[in-house]
Amino acid sequence: MTPFQKKCYETLKRDVHSGSVITYAGLAKLIGHPNAHRAVGSAMNKNPFAPEVPCHRVVKSTGELGGFAQDIKIKRRRLQKEGIKIHKGKIVNFKDVLSTSVKRAIIGFHQDDLADWVAELECGHFQHVRHDPPWIIRPWVIKKSGRVSNIGLRLHCKKCTDGAPKDTFK
Ligand SMILES: [Zn+2]
Repeated sequence: MTPFQKKCYETLKRDVHSGSVITYAGLAKLIGHPNAHRAVGSAMNKNPFAPEVPCHRVVKSTGELGGFAQDIKIKRRRLQKEGIKIHKGKIVNFKDVLSTSVKRAIIGFHQDDLADWVAELECGHFQHVRHDPPWIIRPWVIKKSGRVSNIGLRLHCKKCTDGAPKDTFK
């Protein structure tokens, strides 16, 4: 198995849970190789760990199921069992089940130049805590006890979804 395959499988297993799907391009972004959707497709076809590594949850950006190493009926059945609605080879509730953002645990905090609190996530990305769209206010971040007790809280990380490089301190 190549390191690329390994990364595909680990990421898929960790981030794409039952009841949701991701596109080949989406998974490529998630592993930090945004142009590698074909290679992702090929890794899915070689997946030796199905269904623990849920390659059946990787679909085309049109909402069609796409390829599957085993019988395509098995892919469809596994998805339906997880609550995905499929009609004529296409996911009906595609927008609702598409994994557009993954959650990452907070591992620390710091303040930016304007003294706003910034969460440091396990993925290496930073995220402003009080201004997390859509404008969720989290008063706990002001107090040290609040910050400490929210270590481990999982926030949606759009930067991971976009395949952005890790944030660094300036
Ligand atoms: Zn991230």
